[in-house]
Amino acid sequence: MNQMTNHLPTAELQAIDAAHHMHPFTANTALGRKGARVITRAEGVRLTDSDGIELLDAMAGLWCVNIGYGRKELADAAARQMMELPFYNTFFQTTTVPALTLAKRIADLAPGDLNHVFFASSGSEANDTNIRMVRHYWALKGKPSKRTIISRKNGYHGSSMGSASLGGMAGMHAQGGLPIADIVHIDQPYWYGEGGDTAPEEFGIARARQLEEMIAKLGEDNVAAFIAEPIQGAGGVIIPPASYWPEIKRICDAHDILLIADEVICGFGRTGEWFGSTSVGIHPHIMTIAKGLSSGYQPIGGSVVCDEIAQVIGSDEFNHGYTYSGHPVAAAVALENLRILDEEGIVTRVKDTTAPYLAKIWKSLEDHPLVGEAVSHGLMASLAMTPDKAARAPFAAEKGTVGYICRERCFANNLVMRHVGDRMIISPPLVITPADLDLVVARARKALDETY
Ligand code: PLP
Repeated sequence: MNQMTNHLPTAELQAIDAAHHMHPFTANTALGRKGARVITRAEGVRLTDSDGIELLDAMAGLWCVNIGYGRKELADAAARQMMELPFYNTFFQTTTVPALTLAKRIADLAPGDLNHVFFASSGSEANDTNIRMVRHYWALKGKPSKRTIISRKNGYHGSSMGSASLGGMAGMHAQGGLPIADIVHIDQPYWYGEGGDTAPEEFGIARARQLEEMIAKLGEDNVAAFIAEPIQGAGGVIIPPASYWPEIKRICDAHDILLIADEVICGFGRTGEWFGSTSVGIHPHIMTIAKGLSSGYQPIGGSVVCDEIAQVIGSDEFNHGYTYSGHPVAAAVALENLRILDEEGIVTRVKDTTAPYLAKIWKSLEDHPLVGEAVSHGLMASLAMTPDKAARAPFAAEKGTVGYICRERCFANNLVMRHVGDRMIISPPLVITPADLDLVVARARKALDETY
């Protein structure tokens, strides 16, 4: 037992938490009354709480622990780097070996000419970088009016002022004065919830064409970029019809609009490819990365940028950067994580084995009376709960209703699964076995039964 596991009794930990700790995306007073579940350790795909109860983590932490918990190699890489060089900046004509090595490794893995990395410590920071970078790029190209960035309702791109403005989360925009100027949103390609009687492929085209309509409305001389997640994660694991992405790509090319793929969830194996862009057949100009880059063992993110943008941005001093851009310890840990993902064939295994297996068993949940659709893409999956399958009707989307109840029932059955409105979602560690996927589905079914 180490110092951290030899802890105070749960009730005392919860009391301290309630008194001093403000949780993100949480009504803290209500949580304080109930008491947060205290997670104390983890191994593989399993968490242990302060009462010694084991939970199956079907969310990989927060969509990030791709290689699973407890990999000593990453701890060793961090310790080695901390002893050798715990920190040095990459601002003023200096660099570090982990930062440059990681930039090359990412460039080698990324498709096409995405050969350059601007580091940050999170997805939010990386998306803030993207906002400034694409605007500055067009200014340097002599087109300063190309400033507006088009994004999507119910997309998620982070919590900073810039990235939350890119995001299309109504609840976030309602607080704190969002969005910032020159960011506009089009509708999401959510056929199950918004497609009505239209066939999915037709709907995919119609939703993509909203981009073209928005570009026409704003004037293409005023539009810098379009940003989207290849598969929307936090919005509820929404998988667009196959017609959607090729049409988006055509529109961006036709109108000289940069395409930014937010790969914070989809990157590093989640879709069975190294990047979600490849899995939906697009070649973006910029990719946002974070989470799976280090499997969450260290906070690190970045923007992966194509040759042309890097060359133009590099012709001037880009007045932007974070103290921890390319942090050597985070970079060393990310490198070790990428080595494990590659050498252990984890991404290939997702594609060939676990993703097809999950697709099959997940689909079986559609026979449950509460479930309208159960879909997956790689190792991310969602199901829509509905009071009326034929009409694909939503439940009243209020906090504390069916999604919340089902999530609580999952928790009570020692399964970590999230809910977004009526949608239940999973995104397990990529090392999960078929046997543990069976357990996820069995516990999810039990939670659905108890919700029904
Ligand atoms: N982009 C996407 C697609 C995300 O899912 C997230 C976080 O969930 C972010 C960006 C923000 O990343 P971070 O929380 O590391 O700032």
